[in-house]
Amino acid sequence: MVPGLHLIPAEEARRILAETPPVGTERVPLAEAAGRVLATELRAPANLPGERRAVMDGYAVRAADVHAASELSTVTLALVGVVPMGNVFRGAVAAGEAVAISTGGFLPEGADAIVMIEHTSSTAESEGVGRSVEIGRAVAPGANVIQPGEDLAAGAPLLAAGRRLRPQDLAVLATFGIVDLPVFRRPRVAVLSTGNELADLGTEPTAAQIPNANTYSLMAQIVEAGGLPLNLGVAPDRLDAIAERIARGMEADVLVSSAGVSVGELDLVREALVNAGAELHLWKVDMRPGKPITFGTLGDKPVFGLPGNPVSAMVTFELFVRPMLLAMQGRRGPARPTLRATALAPIVNRGSRRGYLRVTLEARDGRWGARLTGDQGSGILRSMVAADGLAVLKGDTTVAEGQEVEVIVLRQVSL
Ligand code: AMP
Ligand code: MG
Repeated sequence: MVPGLHLIPAEEARRILAETPPVGTERVPLAEAAGRVLATELRAPANLPGERRAVMDGYAVRAADVHAASELSTVTLALVGVVPMGNVFRGAVAAGEAVAISTGGFLPEGADAIVMIEHTSSTAESEGVGRSVEIGRAVAPGANVIQPGEDLAAGAPLLAAGRRLRPQDLAVLATFGIVDLPVFRRPRVAVLSTGNELADLGTEPTAAQIPNANTYSLMAQIVEAGGLPLNLGVAPDRLDAIAERIARGMEADVLVSSAGVSVGELDLVREALVNAGAELHLWKVDMRPGKPITFGTLGDKPVFGLPGNPVSAMVTFELFVRPMLLAMQGRRGPARPTLRATALAPIVNRGSRRGYLRVTLEARDGRWGARLTGDQGSGILRSMVAADGLAVLKGDTTVAEGQEVEVIVLRQVSL
């Protein structure tokens, strides 16, 4: 047994990694802020709306003037003008007067309510001054008017720190004239694939080689987790070659390598990391798939040695690297949503390790059903391609058909 090798629950490893502090902040223009994580709490800098505004097309009136109006007994008001969109009505609405107004128009002084156009009839062809309007409906003060601060009051909490910005957030920020804002920096993540047997994309594998797959799945997972990948390519199983890649990887904030870290094999990635000065832990995580993973720090930078098997590399990234990358961007909360699904066929976890089994999710009568993607061998890429989620099962357990199972959702799904 390798010194320091101890079995730890996957949840403990995830907890440790999710405590990694943010990498820093930067200011970005509003137009580039979607999907970024807000670094400070924002409060409404002013009332929204700032002024009283109409929420209907109609006539701005004094409610007291029309309190007796009805369809059978209309009240006639003098039409003294129009609120032009993009401008204010210069003047005030006096007793017995009305001003035509469109949705969004700023309420003229003196008026306190809007009568919807449907409840009026204008005696004129056009809404010119000097005409009149028949009001066929009473309105209460404030009717069809949005008051200052009714949407958001000045000083009210607007967006919390750690929030991943959504399109609607940008709308509200633009409304307040916020042109740029502080967000957490996206961590740069160097990706290294190792193995003499690997042929990288664009080179023809020899008879004894296999194509490098991990670089591409890992870079995509990094992007999906908000990081910026740095491709270090493939290093052959040679210490100097790996060392050179590790040195280049230190441009990034994190280094993720795959393969060459299994116990008992030519352990060059670990040796190269240690030679570079890394402090390493070899974690034997209580999970399947996934052999031991190496985690450590080189300087102040986290480094990972993930298993080489493409499925194991992806699942260990998902469970361990992703929570850390989210934490490094100040994101709080679970790294993925989970749901409880009904097993559509038995889901069996053979062996004592906790299983993260690839499942499809299918909507059934407004509930989720889960089904294994097929062969769960960690060499079966197809099972990962088909997976909507990972069903989490304790060691040596079977979830019978119709029973519930917890699923980590990997793909956006809807009932
Ligand atoms: P290792 O962890 O080095 O023992 O690798 C485990 C298995 O994963 C071996 O069959 C490797 O050939 C394979 N493998 C390692 N790295 C990659 C990669 N980048 N792309 C595809 N398969 C890989
Ligand atoms: Mg290898």
